[in-house]
Amino acid sequence: MFLTHLECSACGRQHDWSRLQNLCAACQKPLFAIVDLAAVSRTVKRETLAAREKSLWRYREVLPLTDGVEPVSLGEGGTPLLRAQKFGGDVDLWVKDESLNPTQSFKARGMSVAVSMAKYLGAEKLAVPSAGNAGGALAAYAARAGLDAHIFMPRDTPRANIIECRELGAHVTLIDGLITDCAAEIARRKEEEGWFDMSTLKEPYRVEGKKTLGYELVEQLGWQLPDVILYPTGGGTGLIGMWKAFTEMESLGWISKKRPRMFAVQATGCSPIVRAFEAGEKTAAEFRNAHTIASGLRVPKAIGDFLILKLLHQSNGGAVAVDDEEMIRTMREVGSKEGLFVCPEAAACFAALKLLQRPGKIAPGERVVIFNTGAGIKYLDCYESQ
Ligand SMILES: *Cc1c(COP(=O)(O)O)cnc(C)c1O
Ligand SMILES: [Zn+2]
Repeated sequence: MFLTHLECSACGRQHDWSRLQNLCAACQKPLFAIVDLAAVSRTVKRETLAAREKSLWRYREVLPLTDGVEPVSLGEGGTPLLRAQKFGGDVDLWVKDESLNPTQSFKARGMSVAVSMAKYLGAEKLAVPSAGNAGGALAAYAARAGLDAHIFMPRDTPRANIIECRELGAHVTLIDGLITDCAAEIARRKEEEGWFDMSTLKEPYRVEGKKTLGYELVEQLGWQLPDVILYPTGGGTGLIGMWKAFTEMESLGWISKKRPRMFAVQATGCSPIVRAFEAGEKTAAEFRNAHTIASGLRVPKAIGDFLILKLLHQSNGGAVAVDDEEMIRTMREVGSKEGLFVCPEAAACFAALKLLQRPGKIAPGERVVIFNTGAGIKYLDCYESQ
């Protein structure tokens, strides 16, 4: 293993990886796992990866977990990168179909790595707030690891997510409120209950799992970076993870300096990052009365807001909001044109592509990647009122 220590993403203070850690002890901001990239580059060449298992654990050298320890795995990662046939018009559009992960969403990536580390470091009871797919993923990996999962969900979370968590053996508590209220409930009780908080970016390893989106995408594109990435942004873990992956890959000598323009796509009814980006702010204020059918985007306050906003600026990208009706309409358009029943979060990205193409913010011929972060079939509730 090449993990050396944890480092605060805000104040830079170092922390020991070998015991369970949540936020920076000094400033309460997210911790990043730091890997000895010079040693990795001496050990593994990018070409050797091709022969390995089709799973995110093929990138084992840049992931945490001590050598010889078996990861908690259900076959996550290794998802197809599909070329869009009709939707993109004159852009070169690709879809990374993350709905083929265990529990049908890319949350599996983060949870495989985070649960592997939590188990290794001795956690027994894991807790997470979830408005959608994070709960199911934690429930599955905790079950696989033989650990307890305690999941707090807003009462209006899609039924499929709630049932999935229960059937996977998790303790599910429904809360009248938003994901932020669920997080507050965990924070209030975790000490007494002995829960380890698995909230996104409040422990260092879910983002390590999500960074494999970046490694895998670039490997599938023949070690080239796309021009644009459209990412449905809730907590922003995938954006932050991919940005970290690109930095690491450049240090490894696996890619050039080029970076994609990164766009955060949110729902009009919950768009704190879009609002902050447009106002030129460095952090995003809590979004009041958040509501959207895209439950993965229903995050009124993200702890990594400053990291998201920084990378959007650095990449020369942006932030776009799409309303719920447009998402539902676009789900059908993508379904009928591409044969993919995408989640509403991803549908928002397809709609955002059109919004960006019109004023020429994405030019003809540019290579664009959209992440279908989850399966549309989990959102049947969206159709009851139709
Ligand atoms: C969680 C989730 C998102 C948001 O992901 P972040 O990395 O937390 O921004 C998007 N889409 C789906 C389907 C999700 O479950
Ligand atoms: Zn700090």
